[in-house]
Amino acid sequence: IRRNAGEQEFHQAVREVLESLGRVIGKRPAYADNALIERICEPERQIIFRVPWTDDQGNVQINRGFRVQFNSALGPYKGGIRFHPSVNVGIIKFLGFEQTFKNALTGMPLGGGKGGSDFNPRGRSDGEIMRFCQSFMSELYRHIGEYTDVPAGDIGVGSREIGYLFGQYKRLTNRYEAGVLTGKALFYGGSRARREATGYGSTYFVQRMLETRGRSFDGSRVVVSGSGNVAIYTMEKVAQFGGKIMACSDSNGYVIDENGIDLDLVKEIKEAQRERISEYARRKGTGSHYIDGGCIWDVPCDIAMPSATQNELTGRDAKKLIENGVIAVGEGANMPSTPDAVRLFQEAGVLFAPGKAANAGGVATSALEMQQNASRDSWTFDQTEKRLAQIMENIHDTCAATADEYGAPGDYVLGANIAGFVRVAEAMDALGVI
Ligand code: NDP
Repeated sequence: IRRNAGEQEFHQAVREVLESLGRVIGKRPAYADNALIERICEPERQIIFRVPWTDDQGNVQINRGFRVQFNSALGPYKGGIRFHPSVNVGIIKFLGFEQTFKNALTGMPLGGGKGGSDFNPRGRSDGEIMRFCQSFMSELYRHIGEYTDVPAGDIGVGSREIGYLFGQYKRLTNRYEAGVLTGKALFYGGSRARREATGYGSTYFVQRMLETRGRSFDGSRVVVSGSGNVAIYTMEKVAQFGGKIMACSDSNGYVIDENGIDLDLVKEIKEAQRERISEYARRKGTGSHYIDGGCIWDVPCDIAMPSATQNELTGRDAKKLIENGVIAVGEGANMPSTPDAVRLFQEAGVLFAPGKAANAGGVATSALEMQQNASRDSWTFDQTEKRLAQIMENIHDTCAATADEYGAPGDYVLGANIAGFVRVAEAMDALGVI
């Protein structure tokens, strides 16, 4: 704790994984040797850099940039870039740590990493976003590459930002290296279904988890927090599976719609116009309400899909959801439930899908984008979505089988932590003391 002072989210993520590992060490004592667990908790490399840029008024602004290259035992570092004012080294380290196990769970040859900046994109013009991205890449380009480290998007980084980042990478290196970034737009090397992948993937995961209890999304009431990339495509797939979306949110408040959230309107407001979710109720009128500053988890539902940010669902929220009869929780975001909340769900017998398994569809489809780039190919939407669905089924079944094997049937947290850990640990072991 002293070594990583003040990095609360990183401590939280590490503690949660280590709590699952007692049973592994019992079965495979070799993992306690060679300081393997200590090595797995220490990033291979952390880069922190200055990002100076000029705003529209001609003032020079300075932000801090990060890239944490956590573990490359299984493949090049892979993980998103986040632009949000809350970003600091502890947040990027927690995300990089989680990413390492998530990527291992996909079964694809990917290491783990994460990056970002404390830059706040809210209210910034297109020109400001572009100049910021160019400055950020002016340092980052030295550390990334198709065989080294392949960033993607995350909070505050979507296809517009990936475009500006890729443009600057190309300009600095004089190389059209499509495989250096994923989440690209289709016309310069992006993959079909990448935009949809995280939300669709977590919905596929939860659907399979529900099947273990003879349930499904069909006819159920679903609350999805957030209204960004993950939330929007979670809502889309849930609706395709017959679920009714009761509410969605942003960091200011949430909207409820008695008739089910109108996804076309959400897309229009959030993707096309980049406005606030409060606009939804203003435009929709009858049957919909906006609650400023309220807690979305007070809305009764059968299935909750937290898809906004870390620690957004607390013990208090978990109690409320349980009281209201929730049967399943699927984490689209990274670590959205606090440790208290996870414990309460598990004690109450609520099906619980942890983010590192349930939201792995995004990075898995990024790996499919890398495959298409490497073979200069472009797959259809259907073909890509089928691969995604298969991958999510496999991840689900691996977590469930691992939980069974280690004597904790139905505990997806334990299953995901152990299955991810064992894959990384085996690779690290094989590569010597690195
Ligand atoms: P976006 O930036 O597209 O959307 C984030 C959404 O969450 C916005 O609606 C935002 O609202 C809301 N939000 C952010 N902070 C808070 C908060 N403190 N309280 C309530 N709402 C908040 O990001 P993504 O959809 O890409 O990412 C969402 C989550 O999913 C993150 O945890 C991310 O790490 C995870 N994830 C993303 C993947 C991807 O492929 N994009 C892959 C795997 C995981 P506002 O506009 O007000 O900020």
